[in-house]
Amino acid sequence: MRICGRPQLFFCVLGVICLLLFFGVNPVISQTPAPGPASAETISIAVQNNFPPFSFFIRGKVAGFTIDYLNLLSEKTRMVFTFVPGTWEESLTRFRNGEVDAITEISHTPEREAFTLFTTPYYLIPTVVYTRENSFSYNGVETLKGKDVGMETGIYYKDYLEAYPEIRIMEIDDTSELMKKLSFGEIDAVVTNINIGNFMIKQHVLENIRLAGKIDIPAIESEDLRIGIRKDRQQLHVLLQEAMNSFPYTDYRQLQDRWIGAVPQSMQETLMPGDRELINTHTKQHGGFRLSFHKDWYPVDFTDDQNAHAGIAAQIFDMAARTHGIRLVEQVSGSLEEAVDAVFTKESDMLPAIVPSARFNTKLIFTRPYLSLPLVIATRSDQFFVGDLKGLSKKRIGLVDRGELASRFKKTYPDLVFETVSSARDGLKLVQNKKLFAFVDTIPSIAYAVKDNNYYNIKVSGKLEETLPISAAVRSGNQALATVLDKILQNIPVEDKEKVVDRWISISLEEKVDYTIVWQVSIGLGLVLAAAVVWLKKVKGFNRKISRAYALLEEKNIELERLSITDSLTGLYNRHKLDVHLVREKQRADRYNRPFSLVIMDIDHFKSVNDRFGHQTGDEVLRQMGSLIKKSIRSSDIPGRWGGEEFLIICPETDRQGAKTLAEEIRKDIQAVSFLSDTTITISGGVAEYELKEDSGKLLKRADDNLYKAKHSGRNRICV
Ligand code: GH3
Ligand code: MG
Ligand code: MG
Repeated sequence: MRICGRPQLFFCVLGVICLLLFFGVNPVISQTPAPGPASAETISIAVQNNFPPFSFFIRGKVAGFTIDYLNLLSEKTRMVFTFVPGTWEESLTRFRNGEVDAITEISHTPEREAFTLFTTPYYLIPTVVYTRENSFSYNGVETLKGKDVGMETGIYYKDYLEAYPEIRIMEIDDTSELMKKLSFGEIDAVVTNINIGNFMIKQHVLENIRLAGKIDIPAIESEDLRIGIRKDRQQLHVLLQEAMNSFPYTDYRQLQDRWIGAVPQSMQETLMPGDRELINTHTKQHGGFRLSFHKDWYPVDFTDDQNAHAGIAAQIFDMAARTHGIRLVEQVSGSLEEAVDAVFTKESDMLPAIVPSARFNTKLIFTRPYLSLPLVIATRSDQFFVGDLKGLSKKRIGLVDRGELASRFKKTYPDLVFETVSSARDGLKLVQNKKLFAFVDTIPSIAYAVKDNNYYNIKVSGKLEETLPISAAVRSGNQALATVLDKILQNIPVEDKEKVVDRWISISLEEKVDYTIVWQVSIGLGLVLAAAVVWLKKVKGFNRKISRAYALLEEKNIELERLSITDSLTGLYNRHKLDVHLVREKQRADRYNRPFSLVIMDIDHFKSVNDRFGHQTGDEVLRQMGSLIKKSIRSSDIPGRWGGEEFLIICPETDRQGAKTLAEEIRKDIQAVSFLSDTTITISGGVAEYELKEDSGKLLKRADDNLYKAKHSGRNRICV
């Protein structure tokens, strides 16, 4: 096949291009394979020949962590490196004299800035102290006073230790000599980096040396290994730094495993050294990551009663900060706009929770979402289940316009009318008042609002396919911080994040259990549950997270159900449950024309019991009264606490005479029991039998009237 009219010319041009590439001034960086091995410029790098496990001679060749790291960088950048091995002193001299382009294993110092362009560190080695077994106990730099402490010649941390004149510093050129001297008792301690120290101990089998601890001077707690580039090679510096920035973490871990191996847990690092450096520098400047959070985005990101950062985002941030030893400074809280502005004006560093939104693009950089919360549809509980929004038309739907959800939804569901509200609480209130047909928000937000505002007649009646993404954000322009923050957030295990979300759903149900409203809440949740069951059947491939959240809801619901029907003091039914039973008995009596009666009982002069013996004793009397009533009745009777010291017993299949007999028995039993020394407790009671089709309120009133009669005819008696 002919490529062009004159193939010779074509190859000639190609040859010229190749030559141009070959002699080009800039290193060749290209994604496509370079035409030949010699086409890229060669970069000379000074490396140490005695710095294990980073770079040292093995069988006549220089090898180690640094060498492998550089080889991977070379693959990435297609630059060819030549290594020039030597001692540290030799390497530094070569670099300063311009005999090489770059140097490795160089730590940053202000003096070296004069002739070096530093990359970020590619390794941070903890600086530690080694001592001999059974010698003195090292417990911080102070305890090195009066000791002979060895370190490598010219090492940068010497200056810091010289601040303690009582420490006798011994400089020794070779680390293996240093460790041997320690082992033989010629010196008392060695300060060096953990990797070299451990390596030497292993190599020379120095069994009597032990790792005593970290050096507690912040400025030298770790030795930063960087690549230093000659000042006149700026472009090389940029290219290397870019390659380092995108160095894959997995490759990095492999290198670490191969060359460095086990590092004590407390000294392990899960962030890349460059990220760690950024965090440290930032912390030095600002005291930590300064947070700007929402005042009232319940329960995702809000300010609690103590003005502290609380909610799902707060806990996830706490978790991440603990993992990486990052300090968080809770700083500003306010509305979304206020929180964004605090970051924009550099008053704080980041928003822990925000739904990414184009309208903030000029002010913020968003991390990738670290959470994705399911969106659900809440309606009044008398509505049918709607499943999703697709089937609805012309309905008014409320939502909080996070991340421009409203305009997104208007496009997806053109038949619906979307109304923006400022909170789940407001949205659900409008649903309750029939001003809105439904309200769309995340499960945690709806669960929290239902509980916090006692919205008993709200149910979750559908789930959207959309979810609400939650990101963190930093000031636009601060890409470096955004990258680190993103890494940190993406590193958090999914299960841990889910646990936090689940916990907040359950907290929403548990917090501040007010027993008088528990019944209503449990109705609300019962319907939420029913909704979940309906979805489970309806929606295939139902999101695992949501079903887990609902399993939790179910658990809580069973507990709430129990709480909701019992009086916590006496263990009898509470008033709500009595009401339910009353309705049921009335229906049964009407349908089958069967009798049933009520006994209402009230303790006589109970106020004086409280006055004489105290409220707690009063409570104890009520509790015992509860057990006594339980013991005296038939299993079909329904006993409950009607009010403070009033008890109601619903007696199915019982006429007024039978009920009176029961009440009399209880009255006598109570009189016979000595609840308290030198005080007899008595009760008065009223009995009424149900009359066909009678309103249950009327029946209650008749029983109550009889109680009143008993009280006024001398107490300690039952009136029918
Ligand atoms: P009477 O014979 O007319 O019924 O007199 P009384 O003192 O029992 O009636 P009153 O209605 O004046 O007072 C009832 C008292 O019961 C007042 C209240 O402090 C007390 N009480 C109500 N609920 C509780 C409770 O849960 N624990 C305790 N310790 N006392 C209660
Ligand atoms: Mg009373
Ligand atoms: Mg009373």
